[in-house]
Amino acid sequence: MPRNKKGLSTRSVHGGEHRDKPFSSVTNPIVQTSTYVFQNTRELIDYTTGEVDREEYGRYGNPTKSVAERKIAELEGGEDAALFSSGMSAFTSVLLAMLSSGAHVIVMDECYRRSRQFCRQILPRYNIDVTFVKTGDYDELASAITEKTRLIVSESPTNPYLNVIDLEQVVEIAARHRVKVLIDGTFATPYNQKPLDFGIDLVLHSATKYLGGHNDLLSGAVVGSAPLIAAVREFRDVTGGIVDPHGAYLLIRGLKTFALRMEQHNANGLAVARFLEGHPRIRKTYYPGLESHAGYEIACKQMSGFGGVVSFEVDGDMDTTIRFIDAVRIPYIAPSLGGVESLIEQPAIMSFYEMDRSERLEIGIKDELVRFSVGIENADDLIADLDQALGQIQA
Ligand SMILES: *Cc1c(COP(=O)(O)O)cnc(C)c1O
Repeated sequence: MPRNKKGLSTRSVHGGEHRDKPFSSVTNPIVQTSTYVFQNTRELIDYTTGEVDREEYGRYGNPTKSVAERKIAELEGGEDAALFSSGMSAFTSVLLAMLSSGAHVIVMDECYRRSRQFCRQILPRYNIDVTFVKTGDYDELASAITEKTRLIVSESPTNPYLNVIDLEQVVEIAARHRVKVLIDGTFATPYNQKPLDFGIDLVLHSATKYLGGHNDLLSGAVVGSAPLIAAVREFRDVTGGIVDPHGAYLLIRGLKTFALRMEQHNANGLAVARFLEGHPRIRKTYYPGLESHAGYEIACKQMSGFGGVVSFEVDGDMDTTIRFIDAVRIPYIAPSLGGVESLIEQPAIMSFYEMDRSERLEIGIKDELVRFSVGIENADDLIADLDQALGQIQA
């Protein structure tokens, strides 16, 4: 594969784009159409037989989406990328495209709630066996592999504890058994981590988060070798989870400043994590850039920055934490992460409120846990805000 030697910011701005665009535009137009016209039957036949590369129908593709796909493939250093209407559409599509009835998949247990739900509740209905292994337990991972295992799935860093998977070890275990590996790299982004360089087969992103970066779109991406992405695309052609032209435009727009944003997210994330770790009202801070974090050493080896998500436990109970969350003034209380605006949430209430408390604790969601998606505001302002909010709570 020819390696693109250009820097990441240059690739963010120019990657995947044609220099000559319609109407001499600098930007890529939003091609807002559901279907595409053939001048005559000859043209249709030439398209069908593959002589001519063009669009046919909106569920199969649109030019705006293709630019965004090529840009993301270049950022990740992959041969090809496929874009979906959401991160979950990308996740469910890639798993269903790669697995058949009777197959077995291994999933690292610390992951996005809906990814876990899909693997636990939906895949077994199609006779696909799922084994959850403890995140970061490579012996358990190796011994979970059977001759039916087709895929290993993990996030890195994970949600919400930012645990970092040793990609080299996972690739080595998978290669011994000819099993493919999918890494959800949403929290890291290609700015901080390039799983394909480690031999990972497929990288997934909720492009809703850092790639889009502005809390204004939903999309998901899968990046990997051309044959694997072709299979995923074929599945998408049938099931229809493609990103729409307007969403693709917003994604291209957001990616222009990707490198700048990530630099600020990384710097802010580290500054906020250090502040929280040193604060007497905080029991524990989870951030892979802190030496106290379990994944610190692997993170330093395989990541070039640690991102903008910081999780922490307030020294107190459910109510103390609610009072803290309600006292912050700059971050919005909202789910999601990775945008320019800081967002803060208490997972026990935001995503897991309906779950039994004991069940919640079993998967590590404590009452006093807070997930903070640090935006690109000034770190001093964010820290001053956290400090005043922590000053208002009583244990
Ligand atoms: C948000 C998220 C998803 C799901 O993406 P959507 O775009 O919301 O569908 C998957 N994985 C991780 C790690 C996420 O943070």
